[in-house]
Amino acid sequence: MRNLDVIIIGGGISGASALHWLAKGGADVVLFERGEAVGGVMGSHRNELGALVESGPNSAQFNTPLLSELIDDLDLGDRLVHPAAEAANRYILRDGRLMPVPTGPKAFFRSRLFSGAAKRRLLREPFIRAAVGEAEESIAQFVERRLGREMLDYAINPFISGVYAGRPERLSVRHAMPMLHDLEREAGSLLRGGLKRMRAGRKARARGEAPERKGLFSFIEGMGELPGRIQERWGECIHTGVDVERIDRIGGSWHVVARGERFVAPNLVIATDAATAAGLIAEHETAAAAALRSIEYPALAVASVLYDRSMVTHPLDGFGMLVPEVERRCILGTIFSSTLFPNRAPEGTVLLTAFMGGAREPALALRSSEEIAYDVHAELRRTLGICARPKSFDLRVWNRAIPQYNLGHGAIIEAIELAEERLPGMHLLGNYRGGVSVGDCVKSGRALADRLLRRSGARVAVATDAQAPDDLYEES
Ligand SMILES: Cc1cc2nc3c(=O)[nH]c(=O)nc-3n(C[C@H](O)[C@H](O)[C@H](O)COP(=O)(O)OP(=O)(O)OC[C@H]3O[C@@H](n4cnc5c(N)ncnc54)[C@H](O)[C@@H]3O)c2cc1C
Repeated sequence: MRNLDVIIIGGGISGASALHWLAKGGADVVLFERGEAVGGVMGSHRNELGALVESGPNSAQFNTPLLSELIDDLDLGDRLVHPAAEAANRYILRDGRLMPVPTGPKAFFRSRLFSGAAKRRLLREPFIRAAVGEAEESIAQFVERRLGREMLDYAINPFISGVYAGRPERLSVRHAMPMLHDLEREAGSLLRGGLKRMRAGRKARARGEAPERKGLFSFIEGMGELPGRIQERWGECIHTGVDVERIDRIGGSWHVVARGERFVAPNLVIATDAATAAGLIAEHETAAAAALRSIEYPALAVASVLYDRSMVTHPLDGFGMLVPEVERRCILGTIFSSTLFPNRAPEGTVLLTAFMGGAREPALALRSSEEIAYDVHAELRRTLGICARPKSFDLRVWNRAIPQYNLGHGAIIEAIELAEERLPGMHLLGNYRGGVSVGDCVKSGRALADRLLRRSGARVAVATDAQAPDDLYEES
């Protein structure tokens, strides 16, 4: 039997970052991971032609100073890569044509992405009364009420499929886009609230409080470097290839049996996806298990496609393109991966990463790889003017990809919190609460590690996430 301070089940970036701070803080901790490596959905490899294939996130945003701290702790600062200047453009498909997303007020009024009526509707936004009461609204209801239908269809709908692979009609604005919800509550208007935050950010920068690192980033060999380095650093605390099937609570401690050995700790962190967490706690807390199971995780296919540069007509001068649902295409969007970051594709080729399925049409991602490959290539050919077959095609299908913070998510969170109160020492961690982005997961992992270290009279005092206000790190 091995006595520990903390047992973690699940080595995605949520569990792995919690492990990092717990171990750094002096806790005696082990992490069990079902796969052969930590990282969860986050993983990168080079294919047989040398293209860098990402299985999950292609980049992350410095939306919390904790990401920077983690990167420095792991000595990964010199492995960072940042977007190329041309990647500042983002395209949205409208009426079958790719149109650049306007980046400032002047460009917005000149842009052909939105009609004159949509622009006039946007100008009315500051004069629309804020919602009163606590009724939960979907993102679609909120955006249509404040910004109008066209902004929903051609701005928010594609943006939401880029972040959640989700649908604004189902997602709760309070839980999935808390910033929009808060801006209305704080300033009565998104435009007024946005300007106020921008001014606050400017003042903070003038006071020298701006973060050293901001914007998007990845690593030379892809996002997988981050969990990979955590595994290298804390290898002796990590047991891979262990699928934990049950947890037991005996005499106030949590017990996990792995490879014939019994591990015992007062604290157990379940950092798996919600359905697996539900299975593990079902015997102890049926209501929370049912709540966790009710979280929607639509299937998503990620296709990394390599073409000869000379065969692609479009200049690929941008981050990528997003496809609004009203355009009725079968891909959600495509990242121009070899434009975004350096050294993603061999000389003379371009790498595109296309997404298919999600909450819009999950069944599309669950077809045969031949059908998916055919449709992805047909969509890219039609939209980007490609006149040759791909040189390589790598497909990763996630049957359950990204949790959806749908209407009713607040009640799910309450059930989870109640279960944590009733089962002392049991903690649920993962991207189904606290945000889905890599930065959000790291922040949740750190917040939990801090709580556990404080409670156990940590040998090392760990600072909280209070060095700077988070809004400073939000992308404008
Ligand atoms: C295709 C895709 C693209 C994305 N793109 C971006 C992006 O560009 N930028 C961004 O910021 N975010 C992106 N995200 C979101 C972000 O990557 C995820 O929200 C985040 O990585 C999830 O981390 P996690 O640790 O919470 O969960 P997971 O990565 O799902 O990790 C859970 C881990 O638990 C393990 N596990 C499960 N059951 C058991 C068990 N019984 N025993 C032991 N181990 C178990 C699993 O093997 C897994 O490793 C993307 C997500 C996906 C799927």
